[in-house]
Amino acid sequence: MIPYGKHNIDDADIAAVVDVLKNEFLTQGKQVPAFERALCEYTGASHAVAVNSGTSGLHIACLAAGIEAGDIVWTVPNSFAASANCALYCGASVDFVDIDPDTRNLSPALLQEKLHHAAKQKALPKALVVVHFAGSSCDMRQIADIVKPYNITLIEDGAHALGGEDFDGNKIGGSNCSSMTVLSFHPVKSITTAEGGAVLTNHADLAQKLRLYASHGITREKELLPAGHSDEAWYYAQQCLGYNYRLSDLHAALGLAQLKRLDSFIHARRKKAEYYHKALAELPVIRPPGNIRSAWHLYVIELLHHDRKQVFEALRNAGIGVNVHYIPIHWHPYYQKLGFAQGQYPASEKYYQRAITLPLYAELTADMQDEVIRQLKEVLM
Ligand SMILES: *Cc1c(COP(=O)(O)O)cnc(C)c1O
Repeated sequence: MIPYGKHNIDDADIAAVVDVLKNEFLTQGKQVPAFERALCEYTGASHAVAVNSGTSGLHIACLAAGIEAGDIVWTVPNSFAASANCALYCGASVDFVDIDPDTRNLSPALLQEKLHHAAKQKALPKALVVVHFAGSSCDMRQIADIVKPYNITLIEDGAHALGGEDFDGNKIGGSNCSSMTVLSFHPVKSITTAEGGAVLTNHADLAQKLRLYASHGITREKELLPAGHSDEAWYYAQQCLGYNYRLSDLHAALGLAQLKRLDSFIHARRKKAEYYHKALAELPVIRPPGNIRSAWHLYVIELLHHDRKQVFEALRNAGIGVNVHYIPIHWHPYYQKLGFAQGQYPASEKYYQRAITLPLYAELTADMQDEVIRQLKEVLM
């Protein structure tokens, strides 16, 4: 089976992890800060806080944004459930803004309209989590302009997008349009640490909060200690209710080694996406927007005439590990119990019903990709 996504591990990655195993610190050593610095250098962000998953990153981003019970957070239905769950972890409620079917990302027009209504009803969100679906950036400048009058914290779920750029050519995570950007290093993402993630920000105050929430709410930083304790070498102070979301040094060492090859991974993904784009031109499918700045996490086609279930099964039976991204979040039974219903976000729903994700990753060989194309043509023609 040709999988839809896959990590790429080389000897340098292995050596980096083994090296940590032979050294003194498995966690809380030098690898994590080094990885954080490298993430800042790559993206242009001022601060990076490494965590043990993208999901943890989304949670502490919401906490740092001050999200609590009674607050409202908006995101898009066309994402992984974690983009919405983070708000629920904080006791807030979630609502959704539908996507633009052309970009498959949050629709700025619908956002504007929904904000207008929410303002009248005094039910404005405190934060908006935007998702750069498949690695293709949202129009961040436009979205930032739209939310500006409403005092909303803008959080980028950049789990798909490390290595990609926004419309202005800034690396994802480095721009000033949002307050924080969350990354994931799950094996199918741009780079991997097995499990892992990070939150990037240009704001020192948010970085400080993120660090607290990721490590029990406990600090040893002298300037944060209560009066009278700053000269006690043993002293540490819990300032808020935090979690243990730390990344270990083993994982950080892998991330640091992987980051050196990120540009080559993105280059390979872009080439392969371009190859699909040309090869599938004559098929009765909608191809993804051909964005040259995208990190190309996913290559998703929409079937124009064929039954998705039949095509999906035929391809799986032919050894092509196709997948579907995403079942709209509000369609999950858990979200239906919260009161959401099918039909509420028609663009995400129509997109979902026709979507099939084709294999795309750095290691996908030309022969494998040709086989995917051949099988797809056979099923569709
Ligand atoms: C992968 C992913 C996450 C969660 O990341 P984990 O590291 O698996 O916790 C969040 N949002 C999106 C859009 C993702 O694709």
